[in-house]
Amino acid sequence: MNETASPETGPETGAVYQVFARKYRPSTFADLIGQDAMVRTLTNAIRSDRLAQGYILTGVRGIGKTSTARIIARALNCIGADGNGGPTPEPCGVCENCIAIAEDRHVDVLEMDAASRTGVDDIREVIEGVRYRPTTARFKIYIIDEVHMLSRHAFNALLKTLEEPPEHVKFVFATTEIRKVPVTVLSRCQRFDLRRVEMETLKAHFASIAELEGARVADGALHLIARAADGSVRDGLSLLDQAVSHGDPEDGEIGEDQVRAMLGLADRSQSFQLLEAVMAGDVAQALDLLDQLYRDGADPLAILEDLLEITHWLTRIKVVPAVVDAPEVPEIERVRGRNLESRLTMTALARSWQMLLKGLGEVRLAPSPIQAAEMILVRLAHTTDLPTPEEAIRRIDSMPGGDQAAAGAATQTAAVSSGPAPTSGLAPLSPPPEARMTGTDDAVVPAPQPAPPPEPSPEPVNDIGPLTTPQVSGDKKKDAAKHPLVRAVMEMFPGAIIEEVRDGVAAPEEAEEDFQEGAMNESDGSDSGRDRG
Ligand SMILES: [Zn+2]
Repeated sequence: MNETASPETGPETGAVYQVFARKYRPSTFADLIGQDAMVRTLTNAIRSDRLAQGYILTGVRGIGKTSTARIIARALNCIGADGNGGPTPEPCGVCENCIAIAEDRHVDVLEMDAASRTGVDDIREVIEGVRYRPTTARFKIYIIDEVHMLSRHAFNALLKTLEEPPEHVKFVFATTEIRKVPVTVLSRCQRFDLRRVEMETLKAHFASIAELEGARVADGALHLIARAADGSVRDGLSLLDQAVSHGDPEDGEIGEDQVRAMLGLADRSQSFQLLEAVMAGDVAQALDLLDQLYRDGADPLAILEDLLEITHWLTRIKVVPAVVDAPEVPEIERVRGRNLESRLTMTALARSWQMLLKGLGEVRLAPSPIQAAEMILVRLAHTTDLPTPEEAIRRIDSMPGGDQAAAGAATQTAAVSSGPAPTSGLAPLSPPPEARMTGTDDAVVPAPQPAPPPEPSPEPVNDIGPLTTPQVSGDKKKDAAKHPLVRAVMEMFPGAIIEEVRDGVAAPEEAEEDFQEGAMNESDGSDSGRDRG
């Protein structure tokens, strides 16, 4: 990431600046962070001399796979300070083998990147070399990075050697995509899954490195870096490096704001505020807040990611309330999170997640990311107005049975189409704007019902989608398309297909239209959200 900041420098030119990711590259198992299980297994295996012919290391990028491969190479080839040692889980770091491997220049430790050398000829070269004994080391070690990139022929060629490698040869494979590695290869290797490093572990690690570098970095800043690192030590170190080199040594501490600006992140509390405004349907305030964040230098994509993350967190709180008490959650977020969570329904959260997720893609593609972000927030704010299926059912239940007049009296107030400031997303049970779910059909579809409908039977009441109709005639579809709510939704979700909502809309009995509306609202919100989300 920061490669340009430091030209490749040999260790002999110690004065030249070295990026943190290289400088603090782990060289022993003890240095490996957050991979305790793997380290324990490897340590035991080496200690008890149960060495596999091949190892395969898998995990996301930047997590330490090649570092681990090199440590294995050292552990197997270390001869100890006195030159008489055997394989050890604690390579000495001073013998000629240790030093040469650390400096990437050991003739018997061959590193190959399968991403650039995928062909069968490249592998043939390896296989040829396998026959010769190591020059100075105990084992000839082949490290093949991104091994899943090898061609099928290359894998086949390799397989024979893997089945019966000479005593003096070990293979260490690394891959980010273990599923692309043929099972025939996997079955001949000992597999290790490198885990994403926990945020708290990363944070502590970065704190210790900052200290070693004599840099003062605020706790909040370290938190942000650890979060942005997303489990990768290397990515986090690059960010820390960047933060430290941007920091003014005269200025003292590297602050949270500084790192936030560096990462293009939005202020956390402002992100909360933004989500609150959106979920309350307050479009004006939401756009205002977004604009403010943008002008402060936050990246629209990062803002949406923040909202997405908060939505996910709130959902988790809803499912497992104890989540909010996790030690790494700052007190202020604890209070805010609890408050917001209690005011949002699970459906609203799920809908918000879908729409934001879809929105991320739109922001990435849009010529103007900020405009795309605005559109997404407007859309989301409007959907908060749609009742959830439970609400719709509750409202229908609470209606005077079969009182068509009551329903008709409240027409022309369709929430979606006319309400300039939708309000119900945040407080779904607040004084019910009865009009919202009552029939607006009468205004547009004039055909009045001769027989007042019976109360909706409890039968179709379910989570999936009440009142599904297997057959939808063309007329029904047309009628549905004319329905003001459908029209409003179609406007809100350009490109939506009427088929997607038909099940909830075009029921055989017009009599059930009140009910359908609720169902349709729901399916509009979530379906469109999913399609777009
Ligand atoms: Zn050694």
